[in-house]
Amino acid sequence: MASDFSKYSLVIGRFQPLHLGHMDVIRKCAEESEHLTIGIGSAQYSHTVENPFTAGERYLMIEETLKAEGITNYSIVPVEDLNRYSVWVAHVVSMCPPFSCVYSNNPFTKRLFSEAGFKVKDSPLYNRSCYSGTEVRRRISDGEDWRSLVPSAVAEVIDKIDGEGRIQSFNASDAQL
Ligand code: ATP
Ligand code: MG
Repeated sequence: MASDFSKYSLVIGRFQPLHLGHMDVIRKCAEESEHLTIGIGSAQYSHTVENPFTAGERYLMIEETLKAEGITNYSIVPVEDLNRYSVWVAHVVSMCPPFSCVYSNNPFTKRLFSEAGFKVKDSPLYNRSCYSGTEVRRRISDGEDWRSLVPSAVAEVIDKIDGEGRIQSFNASDAQL
């Protein structure tokens, strides 16, 4: 019997950094899917306020966390921005293993994938007031507790690369390149 990819799914985010809200979705999607592709969006950016971590660092955060959780049916694919939305879905498809279903709650992402004929499933937001990348970065920047918002494997990676020091260096007003 020919195999099909009807239970192959995609979740895409920037994961700057991976937090417990992302993990709530990833856990459920990995359970519901035969295979889950985790797309790391805006992969070419790093060392900025919005995108402090490289694609490779984000890759490691996801890989170490899923290893600790015992999740194995996934691939991680860094995806660079194209800044050309009409062909963005084709670009994602060209980089990822096959998938039929996309989990997202971002209306624009949902729109682009459904226009391209993909099945799109809502992924409800889990405690969004604190589980957001923006809030994790703000807390790191302001020296507040951020470790409770991320998996412990993510905190370990951030410590190893001195992510706190990197993010706090963005505050220095005379920083010049
Ligand atoms: P940022 O604040 O940096 O934009 P973010 O928390 O919005 O970060 P992204 O890396 O932009 O996360 O990834 C967006 C995707 O992550 C969304 O499509 C959404 O499905 C999922 N997501 C983000 N936060 C949560 C959450 N608290 N609960 C469930 N899913 C979430
Ligand atoms: Mg976001």
